[in-house]
Amino acid sequence: MDCPICRQEMPLRREYTTYNKARKPYNHKTYNCAQDDTWISVEIPEAQQELGTPSSSSPETGKDGQHTE
Ligand SMILES: [Zn+2]
Repeated sequence: MDCPICRQEMPLRREYTTYNKARKPYNHKTYNCAQDDTWISVEIPEAQQELGTPSSSSPETGKDGQHTE
């Protein structure tokens, strides 16, 4: 990430993860150029990961109508 003022590489100051309404994780990164007091923050959606969610219980029923003979 380059500073829009001095065009130099901005060091990463902060990094954290938040979740939106759909519980989709976003990786936040905040860059800061100290000499220009410039701040840039980006939000990058993380790859969907299979986090063991106990709430989503899907009992396996034997109803599978895809099999045709
Ligand atoms: Zn700068």
